[in-house]
Amino acid sequence: MKLRVLGCSGGIGGELRTTALLIDDDILIDAGTGIGELTLDEMKKVRHIFLTHTHLDHIACLPLMVDSMFPHIVEPMMIRSHASAIEVLKKHIFNWAIWPDFASLPTTDNPVMRYEPLRMGDVCTLGGRSFEMMPVNHIVPTVGYRVECASGVVAFSGDTTSNDTFWEELNKRSRLDVLIVEVAFKESFRELSLKSRHYCPSLLAEDLKKLRHRPQIFLTHNKPGEEELIFSQCRELITDRELQRLSSGLVIEI
Ligand SMILES: [Zn+2]
Ligand SMILES: [Zn+2]
Repeated sequence: MKLRVLGCSGGIGGELRTTALLIDDDILIDAGTGIGELTLDEMKKVRHIFLTHTHLDHIACLPLMVDSMFPHIVEPMMIRSHASAIEVLKKHIFNWAIWPDFASLPTTDNPVMRYEPLRMGDVCTLGGRSFEMMPVNHIVPTVGYRVECASGVVAFSGDTTSNDTFWEELNKRSRLDVLIVEVAFKESFRELSLKSRHYCPSLLAEDLKKLRHRPQIFLTHNKPGEEELIFSQCRELITDRELQRLSSGLVIEI
């Protein structure tokens, strides 16, 4: 399995793109502005999109991508997430006012996109790659994902602050090779991190102690312009783990 980082910033500006991770060439996790890195031909290959939540930085390019695919698609593109996220997409995005309801176009029998709500505990297997939602703790209903294939396991936290659930679920399972975890804010924004339910370096340091696995760790979702500071604070506070920064264009082989 190959994971290509299309976007991993907490915002935009210059080269920065928001969250979108491409698994092999047919599956996306989140659909932030990173999608703009895909060529039209690459976009045509995407058949499945798993969303962590409906904050704009994670769905910004979903409506535009679906629209671009409209003339090309032969089968519906599957949009999967927890039921609450699906309801938000229907009510607030694909509602004819913001964007057309592409789940009914060109026809309801064969639309360009189709929703599939997932429940916690469901395992969705696509060509040997299994996706499972992991409970996290963000200001709106949000999940992380654990993705397993024959050669390994990657987990992505989505947006979250301190929690037990994500770490407990990962610990219950036997393997974790790569962990992609958010750390949105610098240390002086600890209060804001708690309020908006993101990690800052000290909150992440406390939670990483809960993880029994020793995966490769990539930090993501830093606020634009704060990347160096956040990374150096994480390195000071998390001394027993090797940390790397996730970067746009990076390809991780699992
Ligand atoms: Zn969010
Ligand atoms: Zn976010």
